[in-house]
Amino acid sequence: MISSGTQELTANPDGIERAADLLRQGLLVALPTETVYGLGGDARNGQAVASIYEAKGRPSFNPLIAHVASVSAAQRFAQWSDQAEQLAQAFWPGPLTLVLPLREGHGISALVTAGLDTLAVRVPAHPTARALLAAFDGPVAAPSANPSGLISPTTADHVWAGLGGKIAAVLDAGPCGVGLESTIVGLAGEPTLLRPGGVALEQIEQELGVHLHVHQSGDLLTAPGQLQSHYAPDAPVRLNAASRHGEEVLLGFGPVDCDLNLSVNANLTEAAANLFASLHELNKSGRPIAVSPIPDAGLGAAINDRLRRAAAPRDS
Ligand code: AMP
Ligand code: MG
Repeated sequence: MISSGTQELTANPDGIERAADLLRQGLLVALPTETVYGLGGDARNGQAVASIYEAKGRPSFNPLIAHVASVSAAQRFAQWSDQAEQLAQAFWPGPLTLVLPLREGHGISALVTAGLDTLAVRVPAHPTARALLAAFDGPVAAPSANPSGLISPTTADHVWAGLGGKIAAVLDAGPCGVGLESTIVGLAGEPTLLRPGGVALEQIEQELGVHLHVHQSGDLLTAPGQLQSHYAPDAPVRLNAASRHGEEVLLGFGPVDCDLNLSVNANLTEAAANLFASLHELNKSGRPIAVSPIPDAGLGAAINDRLRRAAAPRDS
């Protein structure tokens, strides 16, 4: 849901409570963090997460960082480990994101993880972000609060200029931002630096007492091999299908006869929210997957981007 009017909320107890209420309703709130203003939505609510992409006009689904209030909140969603504990004790709250295996019964929308079985999670240090997360008492997915391709916002005015009218509220706590993004460390396998940022590599290595693997590309998830193995169903995927051929199962969009429907009402936000779970579900059938045509407008562009990757020829 995207609201027509954007409220300006002040970072006091009343404003924070109202912001938490909007998040509970599945609406979007721009919130200050110690890096930049983030565009927050309930990470358990697929429609809320889809509307983050919609508001930003993001042309592809990259996994988002889930922001939580405390270590114990992080443990509700991710599998904890000694290394996670060490780094959390040393650097949380702060600009360090941990990528951990999802925990059974996590409840996080697949649109947050882009269908991966890991979750990027952190406890931000900004007092307003922490107060909002505590009041909301749930995980908040939050990329930077700017239209896709534009500069990250460090004031409420920046957010307003880019997203005014497209989100429920901006929680204004004045200028924020050292400009450095959070450091992202993968702990699902060998400890790996996935993105450099506000906490130095050396500090992390000193804390863990091991060297981190470093990803040269700087963007693990756009590496083609990664994308294929993580995002592609086992079965072939055929796009723009008017109907089933042979053995195929059909992933529908709009009023069509199909095995699973992304959105009977042809609603792109609903379709985005259902995308990853639907692909996983149909993949279980072991049959080839055909997908109805999906308009390329708005969120449709990101949906089609992901579907094209799923349908692309596989690495051997
Ligand atoms: P931003 O929202 O701009 O701070 O970007 C989030 C970053 O986290 C992106 O670079 C993502 O690729 C990365 N990320 C999020 N979730 C995961 C994950 N499960 N595994 C690896 N990287 C992730
Ligand atoms: Mg950004």
